[in-house]
Amino acid sequence: MAKARNQVQEKLKQVDVVLEIVDARTPEASRNPMMNQIVGQKPRIMVLNKQDLADPEITKQWVAYYKGFGYEAIAIDAQHAKRLNQIPQLAKKLMAAKIAKQKSRGIKNPAIRAMCIGIPNVGKSTILNRLIKKNVAVTGNRPGVTKNQQWLKADETFQLLDTPGILWPKFEDEMIGKKLALTGAIADSVYQEDIVGMYGLQFFRENYTESFRRAYGLNADDLALSDADLMIHLAKKNGFADNYNRMAERIIFDARQGKFGRYTLEKPEAENDANA
Ligand code: GDP
Repeated sequence: MAKARNQVQEKLKQVDVVLEIVDARTPEASRNPMMNQIVGQKPRIMVLNKQDLADPEITKQWVAYYKGFGYEAIAIDAQHAKRLNQIPQLAKKLMAAKIAKQKSRGIKNPAIRAMCIGIPNVGKSTILNRLIKKNVAVTGNRPGVTKNQQWLKADETFQLLDTPGILWPKFEDEMIGKKLALTGAIADSVYQEDIVGMYGLQFFRENYTESFRRAYGLNADDLALSDADLMIHLAKKNGFADNYNRMAERIIFDARQGKFGRYTLEKPEAENDANA
């Protein structure tokens, strides 16, 4: 982990702007806990990716929240290339003073250099490829593998480092682990599906009750059951008899497929520090 961090810090020296990529469904859980220390004062754009899967109202709140910390912030959908073209514009806005200075020194089209940083699976490679409008194999940080870095052009004056910085989430925090597992950001082998499935059941019945009710054809009596009894009921109803793990797996699968609609697992009011 220290090695990954050092590599990112080395690369940071070469860039003007950092694109910190997070999953719009879990903007804080999908951040590296040391991000602020690592990035320091470097101009930053918070990119809330996968906005197509997230709750639009809460995404707006997150964008405002990050702007409150002095970052630029934008919600995008890299998969379907939505709103990505605003990233170079925002970067140029952040670097306006430097661009003006370089122009006054006679440099006609000063280029802004940026890199993507984020935990695995937030969409760094997709964003990079969409921005440069080509498909490059993105390898990320591989400790021990040295390779010449290249600058890829998004346009004449906006360049991206070809290897994104990969950092890790705060795995040891159980709640963060559950959120990342439910959204599919971490590998299936590293979490317990019964715990994550139960978290999903509790979260969706409480926060997206109507979509949850409809998705599983539940009535008012079903919704009056305790969480554990509802899991038992759902397992039976779905033909899993008393195999609750299979029902838990199904809930995780359905959450990832969007069966309960667009959702966001955390709200900015609950946070009091952008790096919490
Ligand atoms: P990386 O590990 O951060 O480089 O993430 P990838 O670019 O490999 O993306 C991880 C997964 O998320 C892939 O299956 C992508 O197709 C998917 N993905 C990336 N961006 C989006 C997005 O905006 N919306 C949706 N729905 N999926 C996305």
